[in-house]
Amino acid sequence: MIHAGIYYPPDSVKARLCVAGRQALYRYCGERGVPHRNCGKLIVATAPDQVSGLARLSAQAQANGVLDLRELSGAQAAALEPELRCVAALLSPSTGILDSHAYMLALQGDAEARGAVIVLRSPVAGGRAADGAVELDVGGTEPTRLRARAVVNSAGLHAQRVAASLAGFPRVRIPPTYYAKGNYYGLVGRAPFAHLVYPMPNQAGLGVHITIDLGGQARFGPDVEWIERIDYRVDPRRADGFYAAIREYWPGLEDGRLQPAYAGIRPKIVGPDAPAADFLIQGPAEHGVPGLVNLFGIESPGITASLAIAEEVVARL
Ligand SMILES: Cc1cc2nc3c(=O)[nH]c(=O)nc-3n(C[C@H](O)[C@H](O)[C@H](O)COP(=O)(O)OP(=O)(O)OC[C@H]3O[C@@H](n4cnc5c(N)ncnc54)[C@H](O)[C@@H]3O)c2cc1C
Repeated sequence: MIHAGIYYPPDSVKARLCVAGRQALYRYCGERGVPHRNCGKLIVATAPDQVSGLARLSAQAQANGVLDLRELSGAQAAALEPELRCVAALLSPSTGILDSHAYMLALQGDAEARGAVIVLRSPVAGGRAADGAVELDVGGTEPTRLRARAVVNSAGLHAQRVAASLAGFPRVRIPPTYYAKGNYYGLVGRAPFAHLVYPMPNQAGLGVHITIDLGGQARFGPDVEWIERIDYRVDPRRADGFYAAIREYWPGLEDGRLQPAYAGIRPKIVGPDAPAADFLIQGPAEHGVPGLVNLFGIESPGITASLAIAEEVVARL
């Protein structure tokens, strides 16, 4: 999903990099022929007591520089999406979808065209700060030691572990690690929706929403399941919760149409009871190790923001 930049507190790193990244991403996809579609999305209030929440989201979006939201009545939303049940909605025209794999291939092509070499199956096992550079011990089938002027620790779920494995890195700068799994269920048959449809967000996530891929296949998710260990299996027993959440805005969803699809895991830096955390991008000015940038807590909207995150990393270096 290419996010517009609605959900994040004004002045947060997420808000700034999502809005800048989204604009850069649409431009990049257009220039490089990465499949994408600017399909727009509806955020729906399904009960009168949620309408004030829509107004708050709309004001926050404005403060973030998202200036194209439109407030719709339930009838206006139903005119766009007849199967939808809601009392009011926000239409976000600049939300869209992209083929994330094609995007990564395009980035890989750009990097290699500039002399980069992508080396897989070579886990960083440890390292140390050494005379203004960073030394990395790389494992795998051909273990090696690298000395680098610049290291970007973007190890996702393992970024904290990689930082902790660097001798000389100040431990107090490493945030805690929490895993919040997001399960998806696929829809059997075609979805009767042209827009992405989102309920009101909650503290840990954006709520179980409709995602449509470029082939027109619909999936619902992600929910939020706090886990101790990385495990991508989708438990079929979670289906009941999905049916209930989706029928809040799509009462016509028939029994038997949902099937377990896949899961992703959010690299959270705060636990279930804390307000959502911001992206944590640490450069030498924050942690004192020359040549090292750490990326912690890069959950959604990390893909949308990716090109802007890259600019930020370069600036920190
Ligand atoms: C359920 C879910 C839904 C999401 N939806 C959206 C969305 O709709 N829109 C959006 O913009 N974003 C979304 N995101 C966020 C987005 O997917 C992430 O922000 C993005 O993938 C993060 O990219 P990354 O490169 O930082 O980390 P990752 O993609 O996690 O990559 C980390 C890489 O580091 C490697 N690695 C780990 N440890 C080591 C080591 N020791 N040595 C070497 N390599 C190592 C891993 O193998 C991996 O390849 C979603 C995330 C989740 C979980």
